[in-house]
Amino acid sequence: MNKSDSERIAGYLERMGLEEEPDKHRAGLVVFATCGVRQAAEDRVYGLVPKIKKNNPECQIVISGCLSEREDVKKRLDKKVDIWLPIRDLPKLDKKIKGLSASGKRDNYLKLNPKYSSRFSAFVPIGNGCDNFCAYCVVPYARGREVYRPAGGILKEVKDLVKKGYKEIILIAQNVNSYRDGKNNFCDLLKMVNDLPGDFWIRFATSHPKDMSEGLIKTIAGRQKICRHIHLPAQAGDNSVLKAMNRKYTIEHYKKLINRARKAMPGASITTDIIVGFPGETRKQFGNTKKLFREAKFDMAYIAQYSPRPGTAAFKLRDDVLPDEKKRREEELMKILRKTGLANNRKYIGRQERVLIEGRNKEGECFGKTGTNKMVAVKGKGDLPAIGQFVALKIKKARDFGLEGEI
Ligand code: SAH
Ligand code: SF4
Repeated sequence: MNKSDSERIAGYLERMGLEEEPDKHRAGLVVFATCGVRQAAEDRVYGLVPKIKKNNPECQIVISGCLSEREDVKKRLDKKVDIWLPIRDLPKLDKKIKGLSASGKRDNYLKLNPKYSSRFSAFVPIGNGCDNFCAYCVVPYARGREVYRPAGGILKEVKDLVKKGYKEIILIAQNVNSYRDGKNNFCDLLKMVNDLPGDFWIRFATSHPKDMSEGLIKTIAGRQKICRHIHLPAQAGDNSVLKAMNRKYTIEHYKKLINRARKAMPGASITTDIIVGFPGETRKQFGNTKKLFREAKFDMAYIAQYSPRPGTAAFKLRDDVLPDEKKRREEELMKILRKTGLANNRKYIGRQERVLIEGRNKEGECFGKTGTNKMVAVKGKGDLPAIGQFVALKIKKARDFGLEGEI
């Protein structure tokens, strides 16, 4: 989401007549699309802002994103930041920048045209904000309540992208399953995007397990352009921890969902987000998350150590799982994940897969991703495939978190 916001900020500033300066220490204006989901992301901002201001006192610094409405952050960076800009106020940025004349157009920020950073894969936001208030999470405070973008504007953006040759459309919102535009829900939107002409595939993130419907599984299974990859954050494998996190589903419900998805789409990949060391999480409760990992056989998981966020409900609880213990829990899950990842990847050997080539690594080797979001390294001799194009690869080898294939 922050990457997508940055593309809209860049598009907006270019239309104001500004040019990009690649060296942030020489720029006249630096806009931060900050992330405050964890402390480590926040700390990077505290390190960089004073450095930029010291090297170039004339530089105007704008803080957008998660940290832009946090009073404690405002106090801390008071003298060093020129403009505080919640992302929904992006259309008003011109008025705040010194030395820039205001353009006068005041649209919803999602309507602003982005400057896409890739030429073949694009994030297309379908909404912003979150109404769920999970106990640990800063997003509802940082981005405000849910606002959804009318389907017409989304379809137009996708159509234009496909016309320009984009091959991957990633629909994003904090909770895609809450999408609404009149009578249309997220499944209707997916179907409409799927039915647009052109050779491209569709990904989306993120689904909340409490809102993911059978209908969504059927929609993915029945459409050709929708990638068979479901990212479904579980956050924990224990019901009392889920309750304390205010996630509003049980682990039984979660497991039922992924079993249904696997049945409807054999070979689909399932990935998750997990927080280890939520306040009060006992070893026994953590054991249930390990059990979930063994049973669900995830393809990938983004495992985060709990980080207290000011303003959230959990901030009032004692952060009582020690850092070493959090690290140990993360490592234990990684160990299981490596095994299930490799076992899932082995099933690809000998198969032919459609892969979107994304780039080249330091060794000059090409890599890309399958529809199931598996990274594939292109091996073998012969011409290298073009970046941003689909190629058919024969899968030869499996790694813990990736594959190797030949044209
Ligand atoms: N809307 C998505 C997640 C958005 S935040 C959802 O509901 O699943 C992205 C991820 O960051 C979360 O899934 C969670 O695993 C992690 N995260 C959020 N707040 C956190 C915190 N305080 N400490 C550690 N990880 C956190
Ligand atoms: Fe945060 Fe929960 Fe909203 Fe996801 S659903 S953004 S974790 S509050």
